[in-house]
Amino acid sequence: MSKQFDVIVIGGGPGGYIAAIRAAQLGQNVACVDEWKNSQGGPALGGTCTNVGCIPSKALLQSSEHYEQASHHFADHGITVKGLSIDVAKMVARKDTVVKQNNDGIQYLFKKNKVSFFHGRGSFVKASADGYEIKVAGATEETIVGRHIIVATGSNARALPGTPFDEELILSNDGALRINAAPKKLGLIGAGVIGLEMGSVWRRLGTDVTILEGLPTLLGVVDEQIAKEAKKAFDKQGLKIELGVNVGEIKTSKKGVTVTYTSAKGEAKTLEVDKLIVSIGRSPNTTGLNVEAVGLKLDERGAIVVDADCKTNLPGVWAVGDVVRGPMLAHKAEEEGVAVAERIAGQHGHVNFQTIPWVIYTSPEIAWVGRTEQQLKADGVAYKAGTFPFLANGRARALGDTTGMVKMLADAKTDEILGVHIVGPMASELIAECVMAMEFRASSEDIARICHAHPSLSESTKEAALAVDKRTLNF
Ligand SMILES: Cc1cc2nc3c(=O)[nH]c(=O)nc-3n(C[C@H](O)[C@H](O)[C@H](O)COP(=O)(O)OP(=O)(O)OC[C@H]3O[C@@H](n4cnc5c(N)ncnc54)[C@H](O)[C@@H]3O)c2cc1C
Repeated sequence: MSKQFDVIVIGGGPGGYIAAIRAAQLGQNVACVDEWKNSQGGPALGGTCTNVGCIPSKALLQSSEHYEQASHHFADHGITVKGLSIDVAKMVARKDTVVKQNNDGIQYLFKKNKVSFFHGRGSFVKASADGYEIKVAGATEETIVGRHIIVATGSNARALPGTPFDEELILSNDGALRINAAPKKLGLIGAGVIGLEMGSVWRRLGTDVTILEGLPTLLGVVDEQIAKEAKKAFDKQGLKIELGVNVGEIKTSKKGVTVTYTSAKGEAKTLEVDKLIVSIGRSPNTTGLNVEAVGLKLDERGAIVVDADCKTNLPGVWAVGDVVRGPMLAHKAEEEGVAVAERIAGQHGHVNFQTIPWVIYTSPEIAWVGRTEQQLKADGVAYKAGTFPFLANGRARALGDTTGMVKMLADAKTDEILGVHIVGPMASELIAECVMAMEFRASSEDIARICHAHPSLSESTKEAALAVDKRTLNF
């Protein structure tokens, strides 16, 4: 007799494990199936985010930022460092420890919430009177049955046509996070979030980094003024970014990788590097799910088709996170996971797609919520804009990091905040206040009237709000 569950979640990334915990909190009998293996072949819960995404990239960004500070900025504070060096293998080992702490943390949470965990690949067998039969193929094979199925199988890195990842010379995010000695020359294809973050790590450690981007502008999704400010900072740091290029042949040899490409001006160029990271986007992952067995509908990109509530075309089958439409962000996956678990329990789960924050953890950090100035123009919305530079913020001066600004956009008539865009120190933390303000449909005046601690970077958000009404106090 197969084990029967109220809810089976396939995938233990942020979408899946959070859905499993929330469903268990709501009294459901829950199983989660995840196939990720650690280096010893054991389970490694947390998906892309924990194993080869958000968490390890932030660990390396932190280590490399410390090195950058000690190399170039400690002297401003009167601190002299002699014989500074970096042990990259140790940095990578620390990153692995951070990843493991997160893997273990999720296993602990499963135990605490009585979520049954199955290590192996989950695939649909058939619909049955009690729900759906799911085969779990791991060290052993068994079939379990779920009244509801939540598919949270995530995404995979996209390779360039004809250039598969070998994870030695041609790297996806996986290999990129396992480089264990600073290469002399590193190439990246794609100046998106992952390209800029990975490029920053190795540039800080002394690698000559070149990023090739096909689009004519950097970070097209970011507010133009903010993207320009970020580009200025990256140029100053020596991160080489070539825009509008057309990548041609990619050849590997014992010496490394040669990329031929055409520049924006039409010149034929060659880039010789030790390693090449390809970060041109990710594709939804339904490999091995056997969707055909039950007729689960996919779109032309291979994403599972869902409605606004994450319902698929099959009754009782839901899908969340990177495997469905929408931004590929861990917190978006989590919100969808919670909402689906609540809907299954008869509650009214809710995700506000208009207030999902975006963050790029470069230095300066870039973070935003809501619409950009370009989007508001395209939508024909009358708006007011207020900006405040960190240069005029006391805390930023004390920190020694005055790059960037906060920019607030509000409706010209009602003053409702329509978007906030930040480039500068701790933008990832500052954006939370702005998300909350937009969630409560606050006006810029609301933020301007709230007392912010002094001296703090958050005063720049208040000042940007004051700037919407042309009445900054400190600029
Ligand atoms: C380098 C990098 C940095 C990133 N940084 C950030 C960041 O800073 N902030 C942010 O918000 N997002 C970031 N992301 C994106 C983020 O990682 C994803 O949006 C997030 O992981 C999606 O969560 P998910 O649960 O949908 O899928 P995933 O995290 O991909 O998890 C899916 C899980 O399902 C498992 N699985 C797949 N198929 C099966 C099957 N048939 N049976 C059993 N298990 C299966 C997989 O092994 C995996 O464990 C980053 C991504 C990368 C690559």
